[in-house]
Amino acid sequence: MRKKIIAGNWKMNKTVEEAVELANAIKISLADCSEVDVVLCPPFTAIKAVSDVVSETLINVGSQNMSSEDAGAYTGEISATMLKELFVRYVILGHSERRQYYKENDFWINKKVVKALAKNLRPILCVGEMLADREAGNTEKVVEVQVREGLKDVPASAYTDLVIAYEPVWAIGTGKTATSAQAQEVHAFIRGIVADMVGKDAANAVRIQYGGSMKPDNAKELLSQPDIDGGLIGGAALDAASFIGIVKAGL
Ligand code: PEP
Repeated sequence: MRKKIIAGNWKMNKTVEEAVELANAIKISLADCSEVDVVLCPPFTAIKAVSDVVSETLINVGSQNMSSEDAGAYTGEISATMLKELFVRYVILGHSERRQYYKENDFWINKKVVKALAKNLRPILCVGEMLADREAGNTEKVVEVQVREGLKDVPASAYTDLVIAYEPVWAIGTGKTATSAQAQEVHAFIRGIVADMVGKDAANAVRIQYGGSMKPDNAKELLSQPDIDGGLIGGAALDAASFIGIVKAGL
């Protein structure tokens, strides 16, 4: 049985004060939540404050990006070691907004995935097709390339620490959710690719989250699908009651 994982991607939202308020509100309900892995991914500036809030709870902290390099002349970048200093455990990599607006490609995303694992951070690798890809019948083709390239050189033994987030880009922040059947189909397809790459055991172990307008009222249906092991939540993660509602749907 794979343990479900619900991660909140706060994106470029929340000042330190607001982040502490949100983390405290989530902590009241989820401090001892052991049945689901709960991860909060604030902006870099609020990571330390959120880590302090959840330090004696089962709630994890994640970051929204990470450098592929260890240290040096990389202006504006943040290394794995710097994140670990702030008790970060998970790192979102290859989010569609980074692919789209900052031209991150599979080559660099793969370097980050490999680096994160080497530093004992757990990558959440985001993959997903654009609307035009889906309409042209290219969903599987696009997702397969992102999975194979993003996970290049990752050994089978690392898949227990790795999370893949399937996020159809047309469903992110749009209010349009993939139906549970549409999502399940792609999740099963991704698990099949992993099996082909590194074997059945790793494929059975890897957790695959769905992301794209997940809300408390559609979470149960999505999370009850056999290959959907959690959610990566954007908009609804900014509101404590909504985020808590989604986590509870995963219990
Ligand atoms: C996301 O950006 O990862 C996401 C899933 O956003 P939303 O929940 O707002 O669609």
